[in-house]
Amino acid sequence: MSTNRTFTMIKPDAVANGHIGAIINDITAAGFKIIALKYTKLTEETAGKFYEVHKGRPFYTDLVTFMSSGPIVAAILEKDNAIEDFRKLIGATNPADAAEGTIRNKYANSIEANAVHGSDSDENAAIEGDFFFTAAERF
Ligand code: GDP
Repeated sequence: MSTNRTFTMIKPDAVANGHIGAIINDITAAGFKIIALKYTKLTEETAGKFYEVHKGRPFYTDLVTFMSSGPIVAAILEKDNAIEDFRKLIGATNPADAAEGTIRNKYANSIEANAVHGSDSDENAAIEGDFFFTAAERF
């Protein structure tokens, strides 16, 4: 059953390039409600754990280094059909393939530094939200 929730991160590239406000505006304008929000920084250890599912892929080490290179914004978002609608809003993993007007099309630099994360399933949204937020941090 759908939870109507997804998890996102504004990645270090988009934070460094000054896009936090614009991205949050795009997210709320698309109808997502912010349930939890945090400005924080991953360590190599926590980034490695978050992306453990990609361990063994050739880009894993680079991805962990990139994701721990600067602060990020983490958030839990709520909307009907949240997972699918958010993936549509952010666009394809590679910004070169991301549809016009999507967040990655507007703010991303490369397939790695691609501005935002979006959960790919209800199950992962719950796991990823729990990674960053306690129950008391959700509203
Ligand atoms: P997503 O669900 O669209 O974020 O894509 P994936 O789950 O497949 O990959 C997770 C993250 O790994 C992506 O958002 C990128 O930051 C990074 N990534 C994916 N594919 C590649 C790749 O081929 N090369 C590099 N350097 N990074 C990648």
